[in-house]
Amino acid sequence: MRDKADVVIVGAGVVGCSIAYHLCLAGVRDVLLLEKLPAAGQGSTAKANGGIRAQWSTPIHIELSNYSISAYERFNEETGGDCGLVRAGYLFVTADPEREASLRRNLVLQQELGVPARWLTAGGIAGIAPYARCDDLQGGTYSPQDGFIDPHGCTMGYLRAAGRMGAELQTGTEALEITRDGRGVTGVRTSAGLVATRKVVNAAGPHAGVLAERAGAQVPVQPVKRMLACTEAIGGAPPVIPMTIDMDTGLLIRREGQGIVLGHSDPADPPGFDTGFDPGFIEVVSEKALVRFPFLAEAQISPKRCWAGLYPETPDHHAILGPCPDLPGFYLAVGFGGHGLMHAPATGRALAEMIAGGECRFMDVSALRPERISEGDLVTETTVL
Ligand SMILES: Cc1cc2nc3c(=O)[nH]c(=O)nc-3n(C[C@H](O)[C@H](O)[C@H](O)COP(=O)(O)OP(=O)(O)OC[C@H]3O[C@@H](n4cnc5c(N)ncnc54)[C@H](O)[C@@H]3O)c2cc1C
Repeated sequence: MRDKADVVIVGAGVVGCSIAYHLCLAGVRDVLLLEKLPAAGQGSTAKANGGIRAQWSTPIHIELSNYSISAYERFNEETGGDCGLVRAGYLFVTADPEREASLRRNLVLQQELGVPARWLTAGGIAGIAPYARCDDLQGGTYSPQDGFIDPHGCTMGYLRAAGRMGAELQTGTEALEITRDGRGVTGVRTSAGLVATRKVVNAAGPHAGVLAERAGAQVPVQPVKRMLACTEAIGGAPPVIPMTIDMDTGLLIRREGQGIVLGHSDPADPPGFDTGFDPGFIEVVSEKALVRFPFLAEAQISPKRCWAGLYPETPDHHAILGPCPDLPGFYLAVGFGGHGLMHAPATGRALAEMIAGGECRFMDVSALRPERISEGDLVTETTVL
C-alpha cells in the first residue's frame, strides 16, 4: 500500500466514491480511498432501495435533491458509467386530514424551490396509481421528476471515473486510527500500514461514529436497521410504477422486475449493527399493504428475496457535512439516513470544494455544518421513510 496521499477517504460507498470523483475534477488527484470490505459499494449502498426524490420538508434536502437529480441526468455522459436513472415519480398519499395539511405545506416549499410536484385529488391518484385503493383518500403529492437510480451503477461510475483521473482504491484495508499532532491530522494507521496525510474524509456510512472515535472526535451517527421485502412475480400493477408511499401506514412500494418491493421504517427500532433480516417484517408489511394496496393480498414473499441494511442516522435526519470542529484536517460526510444515494452528487461536490478551496461555493450547505449539533440548531425533516 502507498505510504502517503494528499487526501485519504475512509469508506468506498457511493458517498466516498463521489467525493473522490469530485476531488479529482477539482484538481486534487492524489486521493486514496480506503475500504475495509473486499470491494467498493458493499456497505449500506448495496442495500439501498434506489429511490431519488425532491419531495422533502426542508429547504436543504430539497436543494440537495434538485442538484443531485440534475447531476444524475448528466451522470452517464460525464462519468462514462450508467446510473440507471428511471423517471417513475414519487407519489405520497393520505386519507388523514392532518397528514394532508403537512403534505400541502411541503408542496408549497417544494414548488417555491422549483420542484415540479403537484397536488392530486383521489381521482387524480386513481389515474396514476390504479393499483391503490383511493376512495377514502384526501389526496396526495406527485412529482414525475423523482424516480430510481442503480446504487451499484452510481458507485462504479464515480469510482472508475475517479480512477481514470488518478484516485486509487485500496480494499480489504481498515482505518484503525487517525493520527494527529498539534496542527491536526497527520495520517491514518490502517490494517495494512501507515498512510501519511493532512486530510482525511470520514465517509464510513453507519460506521462513521466508530471512525470518529478513532480520530478522538464525537460524531452523533447511529446505525439503525431498515428492511425491505420483495414479492414473487405479481400482476395487478403496471410494469413501471412510482415509488408509492401510504403516509398513513408508512408503507412504501415499488416495482422490482415482476415483483413488488415493500418497505417500512419503524422509528422505534433501536440502534445497532445487526443486519440480519427479521422474518416478522413480512407479516408487518403484508398487513399494512392490505390497507392501501389490496392487489398485494395474494402476494407471496419468501425471506430469500428480503434484505436488511443500516441507515446512518443523525438526531435530525440530516447529514453532517464539513470540517470536524474537534480535529483540523478531518472532514465529515456522514449521517445520510435513507438518502445517501440520492444526495451523493451534491455531497461529493460540496466536500471537494471545501477540501480543495476551503469552502463550498456552489450551494449553501451551512445548515448541515457539524457544529449545529452542539449548538442545538437542528433542522428537522418530517418526511423520513
Ligand atoms: C434498506 C435501505 C434502503 C435505502 N434506500 C435508499 C433510497 O431509496 N435512496 C437513497 O438515497 N438512500 C437509501 N438508503 C440509504 C443509503 O443506502 C445510504 O445513505 C448510503 O448508501 C450511504 O452511503 P455511504 O457511502 O455513506 O455509506 P456506505 O455505503 O455504508 O459506505 C461506507 C463504507 O465505509 C466502509 N468503512 C466503514 N468503516 C471503515 C473503516 N474504519 N475503514 C475502512 N472502511 C470502512 C464500509 O465498509 C462501507 O463500505 C437506504 C438504506 C437502506 C439500508
